[in-house]
Amino acid sequence: TDATSLHREKESMSNSANRVRDGAEQFTFQAEVNRLMDILINSLYSNKDIFLRELISNAADALDKIRFLSLTDKSILGEGDAANLEIKLWLDSESKTLYIRDRGIGMTKDDLIKNLGTIAKSGTSAFLESMQKGGDMNLIGQFGVGFYSVYLVADYVEVISKHNDDKQYIWASTADGSFTISEDTENEDLGRGTLIKIQLKEEAQEYATEAKLKELVQHYSEFINFPIYLQSEKE
Ligand code: ADP
Ligand code: MG
Repeated sequence: TDATSLHREKESMSNSANRVRDGAEQFTFQAEVNRLMDILINSLYSNKDIFLRELISNAADALDKIRFLSLTDKSILGEGDAANLEIKLWLDSESKTLYIRDRGIGMTKDDLIKNLGTIAKSGTSAFLESMQKGGDMNLIGQFGVGFYSVYLVADYVEVISKHNDDKQYIWASTADGSFTISEDTENEDLGRGTLIKIQLKEEAQEYATEAKLKELVQHYSEFINFPIYLQSEKE
């Protein structure tokens, strides 16, 4: 990627955080989820690294699901890239944006709405309670709300997803109580799977270096049964 396109990417991320896409639908987070996100985005918790463990673990879960389905229906994987069960990460250090992409099962529009914000999980209030009692943030994944830990490091997140049964959609939120869903007309065709764009907060710029990411990926990939690639930034 050359400097011009990096610049364009930067512009487009910051613009999109503040604009509602044409035809986007807005949804309100379920109340406990909203409280959780508020805590996470304002958290001074120091071990923010855990967000990457949670996103990698979600990617691996999604890959497990498509692999399982493919045992009974080989055609479900598709051909070429789509058939590669892998996780890829890369960074745009100029726009301070981190990307994680899996070729897992993906989410339909309905999945995005339900799984990432509107359906209450018992773990959400249980985790809030635990935190109130001084519980450890590190356990967030065990309460089934690991995804939201991305807001420990991000002030804006997009989840772009493509499931075999639906079109490609963009979920987007600045953790301000609501999220938007729109049909994706701007990103590459994922084929199948999920791409998460993480716009790093001012206080989390330490994650905008390849050295740091490499360290984390090495650390968290130990128990993951799929290849994880850290793609270098092209000069
Ligand atoms: P958990 O993984 O414990 O279910 P999370 O908060 O980490 O809780 O994720 C919530 C849900 O969002 C997951 O159960 C899954 O349905 C969906 N999800 C999150 N990330 C992905 C992904 N990369 N691919 C497909 N689905 C995902
Ligand atoms: Mg998870």
